Amino acid sequence: MAHEGFIRRLGYPPAAIAMAPGRVNIIGEHTDYNAGLCLPMALTQATAAAASPREDDELRIWSLDIDRHASIALSDVAPGKPRGWSGYVAGTLWALREAGFPVGGMEIVIASEVPVGAGLSSSAAIEGAVAVAATALFGLGLLDDDAGRRVLALACRRAENEIVGAPTGGLDQTASLLARAGHALRLDFRDDSVAHVPFDLAGHEILVIDTRAHHSLADGQYGKRRTECEEAARLLGVESLREVSPAEVEALTDPVLRRRARHVVSENARVEAAVAALERHDLHELGLLMTASHHSLRVDYEVSCAELDVACTAALSVGALGARMTGGGFGGSAIALIETAARVATEAAVRRAFAQHGFGEPNLFVATPGPGARVLA
Ligand code: ADP
Ligand code: MG
Repeated sequence: MAHEGFIRRLGYPPAAIAMAPGRVNIIGEHTDYNAGLCLPMALTQATAAAASPREDDELRIWSLDIDRHASIALSDVAPGKPRGWSGYVAGTLWALREAGFPVGGMEIVIASEVPVGAGLSSSAAIEGAVAVAATALFGLGLLDDDAGRRVLALACRRAENEIVGAPTGGLDQTASLLARAGHALRLDFRDDSVAHVPFDLAGHEILVIDTRAHHSLADGQYGKRRTECEEAARLLGVESLREVSPAEVEALTDPVLRRRARHVVSENARVEAAVAALERHDLHELGLLMTASHHSLRVDYEVSCAELDVACTAALSVGALGARMTGGGFGGSAIALIETAARVATEAAVRRAFAQHGFGEPNLFVATPGPGARVLA
């Protein structure tokens, strides 16, 4: 798609095509910006960037998915500029240049298989594809090992934080750049370590339920949760909530801050338990942890919504081992850990529940742990 789209627009083939995947977070939500733990895996669905270098400093960007074009000189990129979708692309190249890499003007055509705005991280996928395309075109040599890929992930994150202005942690970008097929990633945002955990579900699978709901309060609420966590850490006299024990959380007198902190601290413990459960192939335990994570996000962190709750309840009602929202919340996607043989029944139960509640049709698919960002040609 990106390849043909590039030729159609520019009349010659791209010099490189790069791909970066979306992700689902299996467990460990709203922990990345709290120096905590997460366990994402990359999807096989990815965003492609077909690209060629230009002689000048100009970025010309097309997205086939939203049928839009934008152009800006790389030297004009700054916080809030360009606005909107092209900020993710231009911001990534800006961040690479800021980090000292010789990135110049480019023609870029984007085409994605990752649903946009569904909590499956189309934003990290578009950033990652552009970062990898720049690596290929300008010979940056950042794809050969995890260390180089971390440099790319950081540039992607800076684009989102500083140019787009979304205060997200590094989970999505790290997952998209560093994932390996057949593996989940245990990410520790205290020491920035990454462990590749074999993800073998033996007769089971992760069903993704994209609710197609997006509640507009999402954007402000994300920043608000971040600020609440920082405030809780400050009151407890620690650098981050990672330093806090479950008992210490209960010392917070503000009931809202106490619940926020309780989610973060308990979620970190659930990630550790989930990694251990995966290592001993205890999928029942993994499922229970996922469901407990959803409960914590719904009650203590208050980032779920009716569509996500109905999706999880419906999956559990027909025997899912566990189910939880994934991503930032307030809409987007849920995941259910199910027996492969139960797929048809689970899909039917979710669709029926959505119809009964008057929600729109959800988008359902099975997530397979795919590879991280890469160059295709
Ligand atoms: P998510 O990352 O969960 O999909 P975000 O709100 O973080 O949701 O990112 C979605 C935004 O990223 C879109 O609104 C758009 O600005 C940008 N984006 C992502 N993928 C594309 C694409 N293929 N084409 C154009 N813009 C995209
Ligand atoms: Mg995103």
